[in-house]
Amino acid sequence: MQLLLHNIDRVLTGRFEAPALDADAIVVEDGRIASFDAAAATDPGTVIDCKQMTVAPGLVDTHVHPTLGDYAPKQQSVGWLERMVHGGVTRVFSAGEVHVTGRSGAESALAIALAAHYSYRKPQPSGMKVHGGAMLLESDTEPGHIDRARAAGMGIIGEVGIGSLKDPARSGELSAHARALGMVVHMHCGCTSDRGPGGDEHPHFSAEDVMVVQPTIASHANTFASLSDSDIDRLCADDGPPHVEVVQAGGTRSMLRVVEGLAERGSLDRLLIGTDTPTGYGVASLGVLKTIGDVCSMADVAPELGWAIASGQGARAFGVAGNVIEVGAPADLVVMDASLGSVCDSAVDAIAAGEFPGIAAVITDGRVRVEGSLCTLRSRRVAGIETAR
Ligand SMILES: [Zn+2]
Repeated sequence: MQLLLHNIDRVLTGRFEAPALDADAIVVEDGRIASFDAAAATDPGTVIDCKQMTVAPGLVDTHVHPTLGDYAPKQQSVGWLERMVHGGVTRVFSAGEVHVTGRSGAESALAIALAAHYSYRKPQPSGMKVHGGAMLLESDTEPGHIDRARAAGMGIIGEVGIGSLKDPARSGELSAHARALGMVVHMHCGCTSDRGPGGDEHPHFSAEDVMVVQPTIASHANTFASLSDSDIDRLCADDGPPHVEVVQAGGTRSMLRVVEGLAERGSLDRLLIGTDTPTGYGVASLGVLKTIGDVCSMADVAPELGWAIASGQGARAFGVAGNVIEVGAPADLVVMDASLGSVCDSAVDAIAAGEFPGIAAVITDGRVRVEGSLCTLRSRRVAGIETAR
């Protein structure tokens, strides 16, 4: 089955090294990008006239706290994943199923993560891809628990510091074990959010703690109860962790310090963007889109690059080859414009100005899932979508 997008103004690739592409058409075949030549669409089942709008890869949220299915008990909310697709997000990575109750030690932490891992293996409503099953480290976690998680196909250790294990040295031993197995290790920075036993014991995770643990990702380096400026600078240094993450549910000033700190060192390829939702902050359908606008409008990052950081770069940090526009990649695509009534001329100009673009369509695996976002403002132009059969 073919799908053709034509009459495109700009293509953002989601690739940090080459974030824009000169193409006016994308041909999708069997759910993957097949060509940028409209002539290759010999028998398209669906044709989308993009009316000179921008096409970009679906966004990635590197920091969500799922449970099971599309339910977020922390906000008594149903449908948060489906609504994130309306915000242009097509893939999310768990930082720990922390809102599932009943975690009381290593065995239950593993069991909860396994349940999330298996249940999220199939795409969720609107084609959202959820990488669930991020095991949390507890005071009785042994390397064998990590081995069992890995053997089941799990690839993420949830935020170090959220589980009952608070000791950085022991966490570092387990982090090294997980990373040697090819797993990605998230680590909570700043004030603990743990209301359970152990929270009083180690109420703040500093840059020094991060350097002891050696995670893959210094998670939410702009946490609301922030790290000190010198701690943020320490994480951004060349010998800091491979990735430093900023989130929507965090401080704006500290977010800018992270982004500018990495940019000064030529290290924006280490930056990740997430939301840290659903949490007490809320459900943030437009959280990734908002953070891209903040980063581009206030830290002078080019919109094409900002989009790449929040799409292909996020997927690549977890070893996933998706959320890019290149031949062979899964066709997870966003068609967007400046919003109706905006003084900006295009989606790219809107992002540079810190505005929300209007999302006209979202496609996952070559299927149109959203025709006119229910969450962004209306796009100025409306995509012409025709289905032949
Ligand atoms: Zn956290």
